[in-house]
Amino acid sequence: MKNLLKNFFIFFIILLVVSGLFYSASDAEQPKDYVGIQKLVEEINGESVESVTVEGNLLRVKLKDGSGQKVKKENGESLSALLKNFSVAPDKLAKVNIEVKDESGLSFWASMLLPIALPLLLIGVFIYFMARQIQGANVRALMFGQSQAREVKQDQDKKKQITFKDVAGVKEAKEELKEVVEFLTSPKKFLELGANIPKGVLLVGAPGTGKTLLAKAVAGEAHVPFFHMSGSEFVEMFVGVGASRVRDLFKRAKKSAPCIVFIDEIDAVGRQRGSGLGGSHDEREQTLNQILVEMDGFEPNTNVIVIAATNRPDVLDPALLRPGRFDRRVVLDEPDINDRTEILKVHSQKKPLGKEVSLRRIAERTPGFSGADLANLLNEAAILSARNGKRLIEMPELFQSIEKVMLGPERKSRVLSDKEKKITAYHEAGHALVTHILPNTDPVQKISIISRGMAGGYTLKVPLEDKRMHSRQEFLEELSVLLGGYIAEREIFGDITTGATSDLRTATHLARRMITDYGMSRELGPRTFGSREELIFLGRELHEQRDYSEKIAERIDDEIMHYLNEAAERARQIIREHKPKLEKIVEALLKQEKLEKEEFEELVKA
Ligand code: ADP
Ligand code: ZN
Repeated sequence: MKNLLKNFFIFFIILLVVSGLFYSASDAEQPKDYVGIQKLVEEINGESVESVTVEGNLLRVKLKDGSGQKVKKENGESLSALLKNFSVAPDKLAKVNIEVKDESGLSFWASMLLPIALPLLLIGVFIYFMARQIQGANVRALMFGQSQAREVKQDQDKKKQITFKDVAGVKEAKEELKEVVEFLTSPKKFLELGANIPKGVLLVGAPGTGKTLLAKAVAGEAHVPFFHMSGSEFVEMFVGVGASRVRDLFKRAKKSAPCIVFIDEIDAVGRQRGSGLGGSHDEREQTLNQILVEMDGFEPNTNVIVIAATNRPDVLDPALLRPGRFDRRVVLDEPDINDRTEILKVHSQKKPLGKEVSLRRIAERTPGFSGADLANLLNEAAILSARNGKRLIEMPELFQSIEKVMLGPERKSRVLSDKEKKITAYHEAGHALVTHILPNTDPVQKISIISRGMAGGYTLKVPLEDKRMHSRQEFLEELSVLLGGYIAEREIFGDITTGATSDLRTATHLARRMITDYGMSRELGPRTFGSREELIFLGRELHEQRDYSEKIAERIDDEIMHYLNEAAERARQIIREHKPKLEKIVEALLKQEKLEKEEFEELVKA
């Protein structure tokens, strides 16, 4: 709106200047030899005029003495009538040679058209600016229904294409998707045998595991165009937009068949219907219906394959998963250590690595990292190396980047007071000591009291191998480790700080899950408590359904308390018993702020 006003103002100024120019231009046209009509009349009466030439409103007067004059007359009035009105004697007039010439073409047209055209032109310019303003204000009402899918045409340049080579790990997924590539490249083979080519593939995997990358690779392998749209992009403020975008997307896709349509985050539109709080006919539902209609409407030989991605297959509407729709499901696991090494290899191809860099060791230190995290790690390492003025990426930068990706950047600027530093040191030493003493915990990789991201300090533990399963004993020890910091503060200072908040929350959450989800309670027996049936309102989970009685709820609370107290007690014993070691760790931490695995083990060995 402010912009509009500004433009209007500018426009107004321009108008003023232009009209001013015109005014002065017509003014300037009054040279010295112009005379009034009165003068002309006198001259005619005095017989000193030889001839008068009429050009429109301009009278060129030639006097007998050879000089010339110009006279302007009123618009539209004829010269003879004018002169009569000024009472020129007819006999004197008869002696003047009067000649009427056409006005010169240009000035005639200019004088005729300018008064009409100029305002029109100005109004036109004004409207044009207004219209541009309104468009700029993003009221593209007419474009709403069109899909904003991004289309990736296959480059002629084969080198730039993303293919399966660029996707590391996920072997099973690649194997399954090779079939899709075949459907796209040689559909005949399948149609001749009467096979129905699948229309939809659902990629299931956590964020950053490479779903988008894999879909692109399929398009690259098959050398077909790739339409990319995210589920959340279908849904706008206005009802019906989503459905219309789906229609538009599929129309475009069918035109460029064979091709791949990739719908990211399908759960944004494909959640189970009827569970929304916004009535049964909400926008999401219509969008979903339209997707189903489009997929059902494919001719058997329409060679469009829809690949959808989600990390929540459990919330999807069953209608989406029926045969003929997204009936193929491809799961992308989190990368294991070999996959991680592979992914690191793929992403370090264009990065110069130092000679002693071992990607395997990086992979060892990064369990739980997704492909995207690993790509990010290498990028951070490259940036860090550049900032350190190195020409190659070396191990220290890589290690540092692991922590950065995990915990956020180091914040050396957040200066801890000596007291805070001491508390943090005891807190982290508490975690580390408990970890070291208990047998079923992951080894300590690093302790630091430099704050990082949200954490004041941190103790990094990394499992020796990738784990898919955890035992009750491991969890119990983990609880003690989590409470180790809190207990250390209490034992040493007799007081507690807010630094332990997130530890306590994590511990409580873990204890609850042990009891309600994993059946690991002593008394409550082998069952789960509470079902996470989702009520969806604005896409958030509001509610955990309670499927147990008030009495059981009390017992669950008791159990949680019991586990936590037990864990705290164990931590306290360890800290009391090994206090000299604790002090040693704290001393080292205060001195050098960070302890690596080897240094730590050296300290606590004895
Ligand atoms: P998703 O769609 O599953 O959230 P993306 O496909 O967008 O994840 O992955 C993000 C980035 O992470 C990719 O562009 C790629 O650089 C990297 N990445 C993820 N998985 C892999 C993998 N298996 N191999 C190579 N790079 C990967
Ligand atoms: Zn802690």
